[in-house]
Amino acid sequence: MWSFRAWRQARILARAPYTQHHWAQVRERLTILDGLNADEDQRLFQCAVLFLHHKHLTALPGVHLDDSDRLTLAALAELPLLHLADLNWYQGFHELVLYPDDFVSPQRHRDASGVEHEWDGEHSGEAWLQGPVILAWPGVQASGGWDGYNLVIHELAHKLDMLNGDANGLPPLHRNMRIEDWASAMQSAYEQMNNLLDADPEAQTALDPYAAENPAEFFAVTSEYFFSAPDLLNEAFPAVYSQLAAFYRQDPLSRLRTLQAEHPAYQEPLNAEQSTTKG
Ligand code: ZN
Repeated sequence: MWSFRAWRQARILARAPYTQHHWAQVRERLTILDGLNADEDQRLFQCAVLFLHHKHLTALPGVHLDDSDRLTLAALAELPLLHLADLNWYQGFHELVLYPDDFVSPQRHRDASGVEHEWDGEHSGEAWLQGPVILAWPGVQASGGWDGYNLVIHELAHKLDMLNGDANGLPPLHRNMRIEDWASAMQSAYEQMNNLLDADPEAQTALDPYAAENPAEFFAVTSEYFFSAPDLLNEAFPAVYSQLAAFYRQDPLSRLRTLQAEHPAYQEPLNAEQSTTKG
């Protein structure tokens, strides 16, 4: 059946400046895309191009983006949505603002909707309710490996969380999921982390201790791990992994295990560099 939407998408894709050459560069940069099958690979490419058509990227002075940079950012943004069908999950924002570095000093920026932003304190990302997503470009560049760090997925998980109101760690779940199962998996893991850190603030936690900040950060950080260190997440909190697998309808752990079986280099434990904080 002829569909206006499909026709319009095909037209956007045909006119976009992004080519398979750019996509090959993205695949080179983002090892967390290793393990996608050919169909997922091309679907992600198309979704990334459509993302760039619908969202406005504002690069502040000091950030220079080429086509491959833009496509890289969009690919990271679309990876979590790869199996979430046609619902417009990113309807809550239109703009991404890229800072040249972590936001250390008070900074001002008037965004496309005329809102004045001022920053104080050190962050590499922020997602505002009904506002733009703010990302420090070095944090985006550091994202994309199998190391538990992914600024883009982190901030966009906040946007998914905000789809049904305030960020509270509960995004809109699918019909085949139960809120009780979600809540019990998330809450018990969250409490476990908090108990450990209450007893010893310096305790070694399986995940970035920032997850213990509040339930919204717990969802954002575990989403980061789900895509970029699924083995660590599944080992620490298997029930959380399985709820996220049901939510994102993906199984990055099986992708990683297949890669590990095929390439010995993937078996080296990776340590995340978490020198920056995420909002
Ligand atoms: Zn956050």
